[in-house]
Amino acid sequence: MRYLSTRGGGDPKRFCDILLEGLAEDGGLYLPERYPQVDGATLACWRGLAYHELAFEILSLYIDDIPAADLQRICAQTYRAEVFGGRTEITPLNELEPGLYLEELSNGPTLAFKDMAMQLLGALFEYELGRRGEQLNILGATSGDTGSAAEYAMRGRAGVNVFMLSPHGRMSPFQQAQMFSLQDKNIHNLAVRGVFDDCQDIVKAVSNDLTYKKSRKIGTVNSINWARLLAQVVYYFAGYFQATKSNDERVSFCVPSGNFGNVCAGHVARQMGLPIAQLVVATNENDVLDEFFRTGRYAPRGAAHTHATSSPSMDISKASNFERFVADLFGREGARVRAAFTAPAFEIPAADRERVATEFGFASGSSSHADRLATIRSCQQRYGRLIDPHTADGLKVAVEQRQAGVPMIVLETALPAKFAETLVEATGAQPPRPAGLDGIENLPKRVQVLDADVGQVRAVIDAALGL
Ligand SMILES: *Cc1c(COP(=O)(O)O)cnc(C)c1O
Repeated sequence: MRYLSTRGGGDPKRFCDILLEGLAEDGGLYLPERYPQVDGATLACWRGLAYHELAFEILSLYIDDIPAADLQRICAQTYRAEVFGGRTEITPLNELEPGLYLEELSNGPTLAFKDMAMQLLGALFEYELGRRGEQLNILGATSGDTGSAAEYAMRGRAGVNVFMLSPHGRMSPFQQAQMFSLQDKNIHNLAVRGVFDDCQDIVKAVSNDLTYKKSRKIGTVNSINWARLLAQVVYYFAGYFQATKSNDERVSFCVPSGNFGNVCAGHVARQMGLPIAQLVVATNENDVLDEFFRTGRYAPRGAAHTHATSSPSMDISKASNFERFVADLFGREGARVRAAFTAPAFEIPAADRERVATEFGFASGSSSHADRLATIRSCQQRYGRLIDPHTADGLKVAVEQRQAGVPMIVLETALPAKFAETLVEATGAQPPRPAGLDGIENLPKRVQVLDADVGQVRAVIDAALGL
């Protein structure tokens, strides 16, 4: 399998080359040259496989530069029940009522769905860096979920260091404790006196200095990484098999969305032939994606027009993976994709809007703080199940968009324990914590506090690398 940029530039690459890279050289995102097709006979073979076996089957369609035995071992070591809350299904499906399901993606170490992909990425990085005899220093900025998932995936791994910037004092006590309690030598927490945008600006400044970036072997693990997206394709198949009895049934998925990474994996699964009726994109008040699916106009907004909401991991107004879907919609016409994504905004013609819904199965909706609270309460009252604010956005939109006779699967993207403040506001009670996480706020913390200054961040990196 070869990978090409959405903007049509550069040479085709193989999986392990794009694994350690970010954007393609022409500024586009990598996509496989085609989507391998899965027919009824293949689905029949896969139904009943353990999660790690299913992961291997799907990954091996896209990865031909890692020997099968190695890839098999990586999948088996990654998707173990011990890592995912003791659940042998890894992504168990819960029936809320007939035809309405919740697929649990948040039983990993940081209690959010990002672990599903990041855990695999950690194993693949260690494997590939070991094979090349190279080292990688991951630099990132986080306001919560991504940074902690990256640290738990990379902790203790050979060849990898993580330098994670977060806004000092602005993450929840639980999120701070999750990250700062890690004592692994290769994990470096940098708390910056400033806001998340300051952290992101520093990461950009460090990465834009190509000489520094190259000499320090700086890399990233952001959501545009193709391996992360590919890992996420697996749980669409796993959810489908749990919700259906035979392969001529169809299901729909509703996905709480920000950067369009999660639902883009659903798009890939559907393009491969998984019988998905609808892919419903759920946003919060930051509804740039909902606006596109309603009107055909995509107009990313700046940080000043991004609301801070109670589903903070979806507070995104420029969806970094969206270009992948648009490349498929545009029939992989690189020049057309480039024109759209280098303009401040674009609008697609009516004929394409029609195809977004009919050919690609997309629908959408948005949710507000009041909706979120009401959905958390009603889900608890009706189904006896506590959900987190992001999943609540998904459930709210799923109920609106559900079609008669088609099972709807809502993806659970985090556990309520992570967002205690909103849960208390909705229900009046503290959400329960999974075993082993009581009192993590009292553990010793490993973090360096810095000013919002590129020089100080570089100094910390250099000191850690012994330079
Ligand atoms: C990252 C995240 C999302 C959004 O996922 P995207 O892939 O960015 O669309 C939703 N919910 C939670 C809890 C997240 O951490």
